[in-house]
Amino acid sequence: MERTLVLLKPDTIQRSFAGELITRFEKVGLKIVGMKMVWVNEEFSKKHYAAHIEKKFYPGLQAMITEGPVVAIVVEAPHAVSQVRKMVGGTEPKSAQPGTIRGDYAQHSYEYTDGKGISIKNLIHASGNAEEAKIEVELWFKPEEIHTYKTVHEIHVF
Ligand code: AMP
Repeated sequence: MERTLVLLKPDTIQRSFAGELITRFEKVGLKIVGMKMVWVNEEFSKKHYAAHIEKKFYPGLQAMITEGPVVAIVVEAPHAVSQVRKMVGGTEPKSAQPGTIRGDYAQHSYEYTDGKGISIKNLIHASGNAEEAKIEVELWFKPEEIHTYKTVHEIHVF
């Protein structure tokens, strides 16, 4: 089994469709094993986005991720990382495929956000690969915040 980190970023929470996005993950069969609401501070933003600190867009990215609470989720499935990335879609909502979360629920372009000097609002973060997922799950969740339980399918179907 593989685990991955999903963040419903402040724009998702402020637009009030956290539940709708969580439902999409549940419907596809991804198992939620950890979930909590967190208001990220600047120090934690620098840890989570360590790879981007030197980039031009980092100040806007930090302003965006610290502007309100996020919902952090750990999901589990045989191919959780690639499955979630597929559902989330490309980084830029304008060019993200229809049917993906970013393609269906957002429309920001780099051209627009760069012009305004703000971060692109793309609703969601998903770990990029298995190695990143392990680091991010450990950064966001204590071992006791991740739960082992059986879904109805595991109890009654499999
Ligand atoms: P990633 O680690 O690839 O998820 O990137 C982190 C976040 O930074 C993305 O989800 C976007 O919100 C933002 N981002 C990435 N690339 C850019 C960019 N070129 N311009 C503005 N924001 C960006």
